[in-house]
Amino acid sequence: MQYIHNYINGELVPAISGIYIDNVEPATGMVFSQIARSGAADVQKAYEAGKSAFESWKNLGAEKRSHILLKIAELIEQNADALAHAESQDNGKPVWLAKKMDIWRASQNIRFYATASLHASNHTYQNPDNINYTLREPLGVVACISPWNLPLYLFTWKIAPALASGNCVIAKPSELTPLTAYLFSEICIKAGLPAGVLNILHGYGYEVGEAMVSHPKIKAVSFTGGTKTGAHIAGIAAPMFKKLSLELGGKNPTIIFASADYEKALETTVRASFLNQGEICLCGSRIFVEESIYERFRNDLVEKIKKLKVGDPQDDTNFMGALVSEGHMQKVLSYIELAQQEGGTILTGGKRLQPEGRCQNGYFVEPTLIEGLSYDCRTNQEEIFGPVATITPFKTEEEVLSYANSVEYGLACSLWTNDLSQAHRIAGKIESGIVWVNCWLLRDLRTPFGGMKSSGVGREGGFEALQFFTEEKNVCIQF
Ligand code: NAD
Repeated sequence: MQYIHNYINGELVPAISGIYIDNVEPATGMVFSQIARSGAADVQKAYEAGKSAFESWKNLGAEKRSHILLKIAELIEQNADALAHAESQDNGKPVWLAKKMDIWRASQNIRFYATASLHASNHTYQNPDNINYTLREPLGVVACISPWNLPLYLFTWKIAPALASGNCVIAKPSELTPLTAYLFSEICIKAGLPAGVLNILHGYGYEVGEAMVSHPKIKAVSFTGGTKTGAHIAGIAAPMFKKLSLELGGKNPTIIFASADYEKALETTVRASFLNQGEICLCGSRIFVEESIYERFRNDLVEKIKKLKVGDPQDDTNFMGALVSEGHMQKVLSYIELAQQEGGTILTGGKRLQPEGRCQNGYFVEPTLIEGLSYDCRTNQEEIFGPVATITPFKTEEEVLSYANSVEYGLACSLWTNDLSQAHRIAGKIESGIVWVNCWLLRDLRTPFGGMKSSGVGREGGFEALQFFTEEKNVCIQF
């Protein structure tokens, strides 16, 4: 049995409570490791470590910090196989996907911010008898809290800009997927990251996570997770005037016009709906297809979905693995039930899957496509976050815009058209933080990333994240 310990002041230590939480492998339903159950006392210990390390980390300068971060990225790359297996075991996603997407991106996140911080610059405003310039200072000890769907990927996406800009960090991965964060702490030790600069705490969100958010000296909270949790965290952090970055839920539209490149739209829609078991905040779960091609597209989509292989995440021929937990699987199945009560027809999928052999008790759900629902029913309005998509025809641009924008979320949209003016028109009117035209999940790390409406507040990515983790000061000098 593996023990997942906290990383505080450069050491791997049990939680002060001495208590552990069972960690379940979603593909088998079996407990395979034990997670330290941390609380407020562990947060205080991590805070003190961060506070002691802060001045020297800040004063080390961007270039020396960059060297250490690049060493961490290199070690992630050297250990990519082991990390991918660990991510798959913890989350249920296929090993091939963990390697290609999660672990690769984790090292890219670190490389990106290790080098971006070298190019960050401040402003000057020149006048005949005076000059203003700005300084940017790291905040101090900051909190980073991440979810289970892209564990190491999102964990590093927050930690990298925080560290690169000179902050000390207390970070918490999801209690459902703590393993790669633990392995990451071992990598940080090997890479020579000074003690206390990064502290990683494990345990429940409502215990250790909430203690991080409400700690009076922690200056900023960068959070990715559910919209409800985000609202709760904002309720605690906002009156304490902490800087807050919230990346929350989504219910993203995929909009396909008749002029689109048919085959590319079809292939990509399958990926956009079901990659990572549909457990990506950017997945398209509402597919809208122009009426003139609706029937053909729907039938072809059903055929493609039926061919998707689901099963043991260790088998590289499987496109989908297990959902992250039994509770999440039950939630997804309950939405499939609800969709039928709301008048939907299941075109394919709709059931739990129990593959023979080692994965018989795993949390697998068939990729599911549902037709015949109104755009405003609960199935089409609430985030399901699993392998479930709905398909709906539309006649006009105005109609599909009103469907797409009808939800409380505004994270991402994938738009398919070969009419350039239409692409610009719709991109301008869609309420979402990102609009992909004739593509999906094409990411450039320099771009701002985040959501509108209930999908979040603030932007990550590029220089935006370096700005979030620093405070700007204006200096005005009269000659
Ligand atoms: P969640 O909100 O349940 O948990 C996210 C993290 O917050 C976990 O580490 C959890 O332990 C912690 N947490 C829970 N309660 C807390 C509290 N009271 N105080 C502090 N921390 C607390 O979300 P989840 O189920 O892990 O993740 C799925 C959600 O994340 C989905 O809604 C998905 O859309 C969203 N998500 C958004 C993005 C994005 O970039 N917008 C990316 C990935 C996932």
